[in-house]
Formats: sequence, C-alpha cells, structure tokens
Amino acid sequence: MHPFEYIRPSDVRHAVTAAADPGAAFLAGGTTQVDLMKDGVLGPRVLIDITRLPLRGVALVGGVIRVGALTTMEELAADPVVADRLTVVRESLLQAASPQLRNMATVGGNLLQRTRCRYYRDLSCACNKRSPGSGCEALDGQHPMHAILGTSEHCIATHASDLAVALVALDAVVRIQGVAGERAVPLTGFYRTPGEDPSVENVLEPGELITSVEIPLLPEEARSRYLKVRDRASYEFALASVAVALVTADGVTRDARVALGGLATVPWRSRAAEEVLRGVPVTPDTCIAAAEAALSGAVPHPGNAYKMELGKRAVARALSMVAGGSG
Ligand code: FAD
Ligand code: SF4
Repeated sequence: MHPFEYIRPSDVRHAVTAAADPGAAFLAGGTTQVDLMKDGVLGPRVLIDITRLPLRGVALVGGVIRVGALTTMEELAADPVVADRLTVVRESLLQAASPQLRNMATVGGNLLQRTRCRYYRDLSCACNKRSPGSGCEALDGQHPMHAILGTSEHCIATHASDLAVALVALDAVVRIQGVAGERAVPLTGFYRTPGEDPSVENVLEPGELITSVEIPLLPEEARSRYLKVRDRASYEFALASVAVALVTADGVTRDARVALGGLATVPWRSRAAEEVLRGVPVTPDTCIAAAEAALSGAVPHPGNAYKMELGKRAVARALSMVAGGSG
C-alpha cells in the first residue's frame, strides 16, 4: 500500500476543504476503499475518514425519506418506514454482501463502490477505467459478468450496487456538498456511462461529498420488489437484477418503475419497459413485452450473450411477482 496522510475531521466544512487536495479521497466504512488501496488500484495521498461527520440516520420528512450518507446498509434495511413502504429498497439491501459487510458499509459508499471487473483490480491488465487510454482487457478476455447495456468500445464493466438500482427506480435524489456549496442531483442523472472515458463514473466534482440521499415514498397502494439473480444465494453480486414498483387501479397499471442491475454499466432505469406497462393490465403478455423493451438496444459479447435471455426472464418474473401480490 502507498503511504498516505490520514485525517479524521468532525465537521463537513473541514472535510470538503481537505478534499480540495487532488490527491485526497474519503473513507467511510472502508469496504471498497481499503481493499482497493491494498491492491494498489487506488493510492490517495490524503485519506479523509468521514465517519465522525454528523451524517448518520434516517428521517421521514414530508413524503420523503432522508438518509444520511453514513447510515449503514443494515440500518437502512431495518428502518420501519422502509420496511413498511419501500420493499424494493429493503430487499436490495438485504440481498447485498453479507451481514458483517452491511454493518460496516454506508449508503454513500455503496453508491460510489467500484466495479467488480477483475481486470480493473489486476494491475497487470489494461483497463481504461483504472488507467485511461491503456485499453480494455475485458473485451477480448473473460466477460461473463460484464454489461450488455450502456457499454462503449472502451469499457463493458457493470455497476455493482444493488441499492442504486432500487433508488434509481424510485427517483431518489443525492445531496452533495462541495467547497462552493450544496447541490442536489437526481440519481437518474448521477451516473455516467463509460463513453470515451470510463474513469469518469459520475457527476461528482473532485472533492465533493455525498451528505444524504432523499427517497420519495411510493403511494400507499404501490407494490415493489427487488429480484436478484446470481450464481449463489448469498454473498454474491448480481448477474441480473430488477427493481420494480407498480401502482395499479381497476386492474390497470397507473404507474410503473423498472430498473436493471447486473446488466448495465450504470444502474439502468428502463423507461421503455415502463411505457409498455402504463395503462394496461399486468399479464404474461405485457410482462414479456416489457421485458423485450427493457433489453432493447443491448449489445452482448460472446461470453455474456446469455444475459439477453436472463435479463428478459428476470424482468418478466419481477413484474409477475409484484403483480401477483407480494411486496
Ligand atoms: P468506502 O469503501 O469507505 O468508500 C467507497 C467509495 O466511496 C470510496 O471511493 C470513497 O472515497 C467514496 N465515498 C464513501 N462515502 C462517500 C461520501 N459520503 N461522499 C463521497 N464519497 C464517498 N454491494 C452491493 O451492492 N451488492 C453486493 O452484493 C455486494 N457484495 C459485496 C461483497 C463483498 C465481499 C464486498 C467486499 C463488497 C460487496 N459489496 C456489495 C460492496 C459494498 O456494499 C460496498 O463496498 C460498500 O457499500 C461501500 O461502502 P463503504 O462505506 O464501505 O465505502
Ligand atoms: Fe477496465 Fe472497464 Fe475494461 Fe473492465 S471492462 S477492464 S473496468 S475498461
């Protein structure tokens, strides 16, 4: 590991001022940051431990749940309002990582975790995300876990967060603090697909801190679920995942939210699938039509072509789970 300076500020202003140093990085639960520093993938000159900042807790304000960035994944999953009204969020959290990790890992850190692409973590491999312009070893290598949506010729890595998929479906908003002030960014516009430069993953400016995430409550009559398909039943990242929320009245879908994980380079909101569902009953046929729409435009590679069918089946199954009454 590279030598680094360690500081632990107790107020947000001090933290963001220190983060103006281009060699600085934040440390929250450390479950991504420390791993990558040990592997030599990240090498900050200054590590700003933010765990003393007053950014922990969940509060219902009006119709919005405000979640401090340092709230742990386990704390958010255990919140009674989340349990009662946001099944999709709770399920996305409880199907992620392990209880030990969820007790350390924070909500802010979860949204900013790095890809699990094996080439990104292996310093002997070319990787445009780790080292811009060096190439992408995954393209001609092993890519069964990689993305089929939102890819570019420079990167096909998936975004690994489960929670972000649920939050994208719910139109959550991220509150951000920098030296210049505070701003709010909808999560649907927060992440960047890799394009020409996969090292730029989101709209955060250098040194900006996520302070909280705001999740609008779904209407009381809404039902929602998070379906995660993976190689083993726990402690594993998604091959495909689907966040679904539906509001139905008189047998017809009034509002539909569909987002995909494990299939795309960013948490992927599928407006096309939502469009198919709105104004019609959820039937096996409409589930299949929505699934087709959700995967339209996907670009598979030889090692991950199976994700086309897997993704469609996951969407159709998640919709039928919600329409079937659970959630
Ligand atoms: P840290 O590691 O402290 O930070 C992560 C990154 O975010 C760093 O770059 C840090 O600088 C930055 N950061 C942290 N907080 C802020 C902030 N408030 N503002 C700005 N920048 C910030 N995740 C899933 O979603 N699903 C899984 O199935 C899953 N399985 C896992 C299995 C294993 C074995 C491991 C190790 C991790 C797994 N994860 C999974 C990822 C895990 O959820 C993340 O590592 C964790 O959520 C990161 O949170 P943290 O607080 O530890 O962040
Ligand atoms: Fe790097 Fe992305 Fe290629 Fe993986 S897929 S090697 S993260 S550029």
